[in-house]
Amino acid sequence: MVFLPTHSILSAEGVTVAYGDKLAVQNINLKFPDQAITALIGPSGCGKSTFLRCLNRMNDSIAHCQITGKIHYRDIEIHSPEVNAFELRKQIGMVFQKPNPFAKSIYKNVAYGPAHHGVKKKKELDEIVETALRKAALWDEVKDKLHSSALSLSGGQQQRLCIARAIALKPQVLLLDEPASALDPISTRKIEELMCELKKEYTIIVVTHNMQQAARISDYTAFFYMGNLVEFGATEEIFTTPQDERTAGYIAGNFG
Ligand code: ADP
Repeated sequence: MVFLPTHSILSAEGVTVAYGDKLAVQNINLKFPDQAITALIGPSGCGKSTFLRCLNRMNDSIAHCQITGKIHYRDIEIHSPEVNAFELRKQIGMVFQKPNPFAKSIYKNVAYGPAHHGVKKKKELDEIVETALRKAALWDEVKDKLHSSALSLSGGQQQRLCIARAIALKPQVLLLDEPASALDPISTRKIEELMCELKKEYTIIVVTHNMQQAARISDYTAFFYMGNLVEFGATEEIFTTPQDERTAGYIAGNFG
């Protein structure tokens, strides 16, 4: 029996999300364990991405999206009037399914966020860029071409660059929405290894439709089904002794 850690810098309490009058997720209660990887799994359309995007207020820009319930980051409710979403996303970074580097140099992609947040000195920016690229396991591949276009990189390298771009802002939490699903197996493996390395420093939440991937890399798994969080627990237990028959059915590949 693996016990869930009690400490968590990010948690959801009664989170419900609707697009217009259509409920996408309902009454989600979840405390994300710190410095661990939590995988959100479940069949397509069950609300994984919707829930993930709530965690750093990425859904704010969708006019017909309504969120109720509470999301706490440290001791702050993220929808409180004093919270600036731009600042929040510095702390809770996000990486999307399709690598989306800016059409700028590799260096500028990574330096962009810190420069935008007020870092002006070149030496300081150089250090941030190198550190972020090293942490994203990309430095050795790009150190001699930092001023080449990010678009000249392979898809897998672009995705690691997007991770470096998020890391450059020194976040506490990284949200990843199917980060490897557009990549080949070798690049996928690199992203998985990278996530396992990064969890030493960050709380990581990853949406994946790939159950083998969830089993390989995550410490905790949350199974979503039709907008509900059915089961949450240590990955090993969810995959070997699921408590709910819907979790068991999904893991057995009976539906998906
Ligand atoms: P998953 O990530 O599990 O595939 P999503 O969160 O993408 O699920 O979708 C959950 C539900 O919300 C689906 O029914 C989907 O069609 C709907 N949905 C997602 N995004 C939007 C949107 N921007 N506008 C309206 N409905 C949406």
